Amino acid sequence: MDMEKWIEQAPVVADLAKAKEVCWVNPKKVPFAGAKDGLTFGPEDIKEASDRLARFAPLLAKIFPETAETNGIIESPLTEIPAMKALLLEKYGADLEGGRLFVKRDSDLAVAGSVKARGGFHDVLKHTEDLALEAGIFTSRDDDPMKLLQPEAIAYFAKHKVQVASTGNLGVSIGMMSAHLGYQAIVHMSADAKQWKKDYLRAHGVTVVEYAGDYGKAITEGRALSDADPDSYFVDDENSKELFMGYAVAAERMQKQLDDAGVTVDEDHPLFVYIPCGVGGAPGGVTFGLKQLYGDNVHVFFTEPVQACCMVLGMATGLHDQICVQDIGLSGKTHADGLAVGRASKLVGRIMEPLLSGEATLEDAKIYEYMRDLYGSEGIFIEPSSCAAFEGPVKLAKAAEFKAYLYENGLADKMKNASHIAWATGGKLVPEDVRKAFMETYL
Ligand SMILES: *Cc1c(COP(=O)(O)O)cnc(C)c1O
Repeated sequence: MDMEKWIEQAPVVADLAKAKEVCWVNPKKVPFAGAKDGLTFGPEDIKEASDRLARFAPLLAKIFPETAETNGIIESPLTEIPAMKALLLEKYGADLEGGRLFVKRDSDLAVAGSVKARGGFHDVLKHTEDLALEAGIFTSRDDDPMKLLQPEAIAYFAKHKVQVASTGNLGVSIGMMSAHLGYQAIVHMSADAKQWKKDYLRAHGVTVVEYAGDYGKAITEGRALSDADPDSYFVDDENSKELFMGYAVAAERMQKQLDDAGVTVDEDHPLFVYIPCGVGGAPGGVTFGLKQLYGDNVHVFFTEPVQACCMVLGMATGLHDQICVQDIGLSGKTHADGLAVGRASKLVGRIMEPLLSGEATLEDAKIYEYMRDLYGSEGIFIEPSSCAAFEGPVKLAKAAEFKAYLYENGLADKMKNASHIAWATGGKLVPEDVRKAFMETYL
């Protein structure tokens, strides 16, 4: 039986299969100097994405008036949350010592309201650039993006489709960008997707196709439909380099915010980053970007729901996208809709192998609790899926596996100098009545 083989290879699978919370340290992580040359991509790929987002910024300022103030650069604040830090100690016994705790508020990113903004927008813009070159609207990649607002360009893009499959937030990101660029935008939504996200997209002229099955089904069918149509482009969350590189741009932008906050990151001042993980693209891209900047001084941990722990399952077994949570008897169902993914990305797990520090899985009840904790202590609302991030600092401070990681990496006596960042991956667009219902949800 496969199950025995997997458990023999990776003992953590036994607990994953029982839907127990785990703290997994990645045994394949290596020093960054040894990892970086073997990675599929390099810093030049991030720079290309970053330059592209900068080139298109004036166009975004025009088509999304809410971004005019930042000249079309869509970025989120980094906020220190000392009251939440105190609460994590008091309520959960998680002692971050003298370290500082921050929240990276991608929950507040304009237009998309989630971490999907950078990756999703970048993917659609890259495709748009390709099409504009092909059609002769652009004469070079750095041609004036305002040309896309000319009537001939608009007529041209109106003949083309952009499609994506999503548990919700990627659909919002891709749907908003492609509809505003004049494409026919089609979003294939899995059963987990929230109704308000579908309503929001439809109100913006996006076609939403609903599936009874999970994300795996939506992406397989969406990809097949798109591939059958020569005028359609499919944003492939399981394989897209352009999504990944868009996500990676987050790191260089946050570097400046850390500097401004007086945060030092070096051998004596470690940085810990905790990111909720679905298919792996967003957290993987952010990690890739952070590693390029901070190397061994940044330690990234992903968090996943116990029933949808596809990334830790893929990484621990080394099978990546060749295994899914249903293979070990899990349902893939979770209240964390943004993380409701049963099979990890084909692209990301392998890139993460030498880079990722580890992973914590958590029970659904906790996401609502952390949501109330953050709102109560700091007055910041983020959506339940993104609250999974807070399991990171709690487990880092408490779990034996992670304490061992700290000792083995010579970090235990440096925790008083550490900075911790919980990555808030979504929230801004959640309607008031839905927020209220979340606040009153106890599992
Ligand atoms: C999409 C999403 C994630 C994770 O991103 P993946 O690329 O699927 O791993 C985390 N949180 C929220 C709120 C999301 O929408």
